[in-house]
Amino acid sequence: MQQPKPLNISIDKTTPVVCVDCSNPTFMEALMLRKVSKFITGQSQDALTPISVFLCTECGAVNKELLPPELLNQLTKEEDGE
Ligand SMILES: [Zn+2]
Repeated sequence: MQQPKPLNISIDKTTPVVCVDCSNPTFMEALMLRKVSKFITGQSQDALTPISVFLCTECGAVNKELLPPELLNQLTKEEDGE
């Protein structure tokens, strides 16, 4: 799992991350699951791979700023397709 590591940097060198939807500054961790086709893994069944994301504790929105870039690209494509 990818966890941001606390850095040994004074707080005045940081900037806050807030929810893009409601500006709430607190988040909780959640898992987004991606399915991997059995044809890719070579297994007998499709597999799931978890990706940890951060949800706003107020409105539940996933902060896209915090997503891995590859996943963000993928989600953007899926949204365009609908
Ligand atoms: Zn929010």
